[in-house]
Amino acid sequence: MGERTLFEKIIAREIPAEIVYEDDLCIAFDDISPQAPCHILIIPKKPVPRLAESKDSDKELLGHLLLKAKEIADNQGFSDENQGFRIVINNGKNGGETVPHLHVHLLAGRPLLWPPG
Ligand code: AMP
Repeated sequence: MGERTLFEKIIAREIPAEIVYEDDLCIAFDDISPQAPCHILIIPKKPVPRLAESKDSDKELLGHLLLKAKEIADNQGFSDENQGFRIVINNGKNGGETVPHLHVHLLAGRPLLWPPG
């Protein structure tokens, strides 16, 4: 078994995080280096390294992560069309991935530019 990732240590409460949501399948916490007024990471408890390594059998889990991201955005008041939010999944080196444990970024609270850098 490989070394446990930072995010597995957050799940195990070995590293502190500002947890905003948790259930059997996932946990969500504030990003330590927020890129917007709201920057939350939603991660599966199952250690899927990245989207590219997810499997057909992860279909329900992947849907769950997106639905929870939407719910958190809604709870924080960003679902209104005059607000809005962005979901990002970085994959691999050129995708900007730095932690090899699948995570969904939820960004909101300011106008977000497109295309991203
Ligand atoms: P990515 O670059 O897509 O792999 O995203 C990894 C994210 O994890 C970055 O936005 C980091 O700021 C965030 N991060 C790194 N360490 C921590 C931590 N200890 N607690 C919360 N977020 C973290």
